[in-house]
This record gives sequence, C-alpha cells and structure tokens, in this order.
Amino acid sequence: MEFIYDDQNIFAKILRGEIPNRTVYENDFALAFEDIAPQAPVHVLVIPKGAYMSLDHFARDASAEEQAGFFQAVAEVCRISGLVDGFRGVSNTRVHGVQDVPHYHMHILGGRPLGRMLAD
Ligand code: 5GP
Repeated sequence: MEFIYDDQNIFAKILRGEIPNRTVYENDFALAFEDIAPQAPVHVLVIPKGAYMSLDHFARDASAEEQAGFFQAVAEVCRISGLVDGFRGVSNTRVHGVQDVPHYHMHILGGRPLGRMLAD
C-alpha cells in the first residue's frame, strides 16, 4: 500500500504552529492536545510529529525512536489526565474507520464509563 501524505491537513497545520492548540504534553516525536469537540471528560489527541497518515502507516514506516516517543507521550497523557480507572485509545483509519483528519492520531478518551466499543 502506498501512503501519500497531504501536508495541508489540519494536524500538520497545528504542528507547524499555523493553528493554535491546547497542548497537554509534547516531546521530540509527539504532540498531545485537547480535542476541539470532546466526546468525554478527557479527550486528548496524540499525534506523531512525522508525516504519517494512519496507524498502519506509522507502524510500518516510523523508526523505533519515533514509535517509542509516541507511546511515551500516550503514557504521559494518561498519567497527566489521571486516567487510573481506565480509558479508551482509538485510531480511526481511512473510510471504514471514519477517519476525518489524515494525519495519524490516537484519541485518548476517559473520565467516565465509555460503554461498549461499537454501537452496531
Ligand atoms: P478522526 O475522525 O480523524 O479520528 O478525528 C479527528 C478529530 O480531530 C475529531 O475528534 C475532531 O474533533 C478533531 N479536530 C478536528 N479539527 C480540530 C482542530 O482544529 N483542533 C483540535 N484540537 N481538534 C480538531
């Protein structure tokens, strides 16, 4: 599969500082910020700083250092957000996954019971 990254997507603009964000955590390889339309009391998006479109693109092509940095950011978001009772990490992907923004991101959702994973 060929991944063609569109650098005009909204998260690329956030990474370039063209659009503001409410940063929760940042390291050399990842940025975590509050979702603009939260669907739970905690709704944070963790994105890699590299140009990856999706979970499978990131998993295939990101270096070990980039992947470690990304997951370190996920852990920090969970710690900072106090998600001791649990959370859900979601990465919607392409059409069937209903991915709106084509820059890889993991939603970290929590702060209340979230129900079953899929409605149908
Ligand atoms: P997706 O459907 O691609 O998995 O999720 C994209 C998410 O990005 C949505 O939850 C949406 O609310 C969020 N989002 C879209 N535009 C912006 C923005 O400009 N700033 C922030 N913080 N979140 C955004």
